[in-house]
Amino acid sequence: MKCDEIRERMPDVAAGFSEPTAAESNHLAGCSTCTEQLQAMRSTMALLDEWQVPEPSPYFDVRLQARLREEIAKPPLGWARWFRRPVLAAALTVAMGVGVGLFFARGNYNHGVEAVDAPPGSAVSDLQTLDKNHEMYSDFELLDDLDVQQDVVANP
Ligand SMILES: [Zn+2]
Repeated sequence: MKCDEIRERMPDVAAGFSEPTAAESNHLAGCSTCTEQLQAMRSTMALLDEWQVPEPSPYFDVRLQARLREEIAKPPLGWARWFRRPVLAAALTVAMGVGVGLFFARGNYNHGVEAVDAPPGSAVSDLQTLDKNHEMYSDFELLDDLDVQQDVVANP
């Protein structure tokens, strides 16, 4: 038996969950390192058994309830108070920077693309038409959704 093998089982043996096997006992008899380690583990376990969880102060619950009532009674935070928080201000600044950056990036992108005259009826011209009128088609889809909802209400 090797030291690594017995060390995997040591916590169980030290805690008393299982007795060492004959092979483990033989190894422990001939290996001072493992014997010391097992002894150290046993004393740690014994210490943990003695340890008692400290009782919370008897006034803890009363104080906690009082604090909760105070917090609930406070008026909700106004907008102005949120703006005074530095983290939120920094986040808004970053968001604005990204927004402005995207705006200019898109402007340059559209400016740089040259329109290709595709023959009408071809796949390329269909795609260009879809791209140009994308917003209009999106609105049509919204209108379709509205009609469906009215149907649902009209025919329960
Ligand atoms: Zn060993």
